[in-house]
Amino acid sequence: MKCSYCSRDAVYYQRYAGKHLCRKHFTAFFEKKVRATIKKYRMIETGDRVAIALSGGKDSVTLTKVLMELYGDRRDLEFVAVTIDEGIEGYREKTLKIAREVTRSVGIEHYVASFENNFSAKLDEIVKVGEKLPCSYCGVFRKYLLNKSARNLSASKLATAHNLDDESQTILMNFINADIDRLARLIPQRDQEGLVRRIKPFMELYEKEVVTYGFLKNYPMSFDECPYSYFPVRAVVRDFIYEFEQKYPGRKISILRSLEKLSNGLKITNPQIELYKCEICGEPTSQKLCQACKLVNELKVKINIRHNEDLSLTKS
Ligand code: SF4
Ligand SMILES: [Zn+2]
Ligand SMILES: [Zn+2]
Repeated sequence: MKCSYCSRDAVYYQRYAGKHLCRKHFTAFFEKKVRATIKKYRMIETGDRVAIALSGGKDSVTLTKVLMELYGDRRDLEFVAVTIDEGIEGYREKTLKIAREVTRSVGIEHYVASFENNFSAKLDEIVKVGEKLPCSYCGVFRKYLLNKSARNLSASKLATAHNLDDESQTILMNFINADIDRLARLIPQRDQEGLVRRIKPFMELYEKEVVTYGFLKNYPMSFDECPYSYFPVRAVVRDFIYEFEQKYPGRKISILRSLEKLSNGLKITNPQIELYKCEICGEPTSQKLCQACKLVNELKVKINIRHNEDLSLTKS
């Protein structure tokens, strides 16, 4: 099949646009979309120091590489990468190695915050005693450490590799669960003390597009799945959206646009609340205790887990 814009062979079919794209035109489309998304949501601005959440998986590697390719020469911007080492044997070591290689190749500093050094327990130990799904613990501790690390590194933004597939699933899940507060939190309203603003430069790109770009650029890609990955509800929603998209291309984007259209109303009905400081650790929270401290309290009767007051962040 030939490219819709030139006589070269196509490498990607964009079903929602009905376009076949060659390597050159696909790459140009992808980079233009990243730039446009960053500009549209004012994700990166003069003076920003951006902390990139780099797990070492395919999406975050592509994010790091493309941000550095598009913005790395800008003297008014700084970039740094942070990896959270949850302590998952046989899985995280490999992606940590990739993360190190990638940060070296693009010439930015790389820091690692581990569950072991910050909570005195690895995820492998937590899942043995925890009653919740592994991701419920991991997600909370990881988010907590990412924010604290980014703040500690004086970052003004925290970039994550969430793509359109992730975003459309999250939006629909919140609708299905009637969790409108959580839905409203997806819309950036204003910066809150102690929270580094999150940015998602891939939020308007399909996961397939992110992977294709990484492949075409020959980036190191790990497709290993976390051994604990098990999201029963999200998996159902993901499959539903996938089938819907197959029949009616472009639906993932319409889910995102629906939220955008609702955003002005949601800002009024569900305004951002003031955050408190957690009574135990002082991190920002909407309740007396932050989620991480609540989980530590739940787990500490079963294992030796504690909350180390000072952040342990290792330069790799
Ligand atoms: S899949 Fe779950 S347990 Fe594994 S790294 Fe992601 S959040 Fe953590
Ligand atoms: Zn072309
Ligand atoms: Zn706390």
